[in-house]
Amino acid sequence: MEKKFCKFCDIIENKPEQKLFEDDKICIFFSIPQIAYVHMQCIPKIHIKNINSLTYKHIPLLYHMKETTIQFLTKKYYIDSNIIIMGFHIPPFNSVQHLHMHCIIPPLNNCIEKLLKVDCVMRRIDNQIYRLLKDKKNCEEINLKS
Ligand SMILES: [Zn+2]
Ligand SMILES: [Zn+2]
Repeated sequence: MEKKFCKFCDIIENKPEQKLFEDDKICIFFSIPQIAYVHMQCIPKIHIKNINSLTYKHIPLLYHMKETTIQFLTKKYYIDSNIIIMGFHIPPFNSVQHLHMHCIIPPLNNCIEKLLKVDCVMRRIDNQIYRLLKDKKNCEEINLKS
């Protein structure tokens, strides 16, 4: 079966020079255009289409993406972790069909700042983890009842 070309899988597999950080699960690289002081992408090495494909089984992966990004950015830029903005597109507002967490250090340009404030366009990492934890709890409750 022919694999469809994916821009981000291509970076993982063929573009080591673009990677700022990688381990066995994730990879971090600069996002273009630079719409803020710092704008990076943190992506899982497995091809996940978007947040709608996530289940509670991905919670450890999301925690790993969050913690690793915070560690990487605070060390590299000497900043407080509280100012880092981390979030995912909410479909259909996806530019690339490979799950990617936008990692942004302000200041942002005005237009993007407005976009980020609209929750229907971008979902913050903590919100995404919270939703999956809630799904997990619901599943466990259903299992207990049956
Ligand atoms: Zn991909
Ligand atoms: Zn994007």
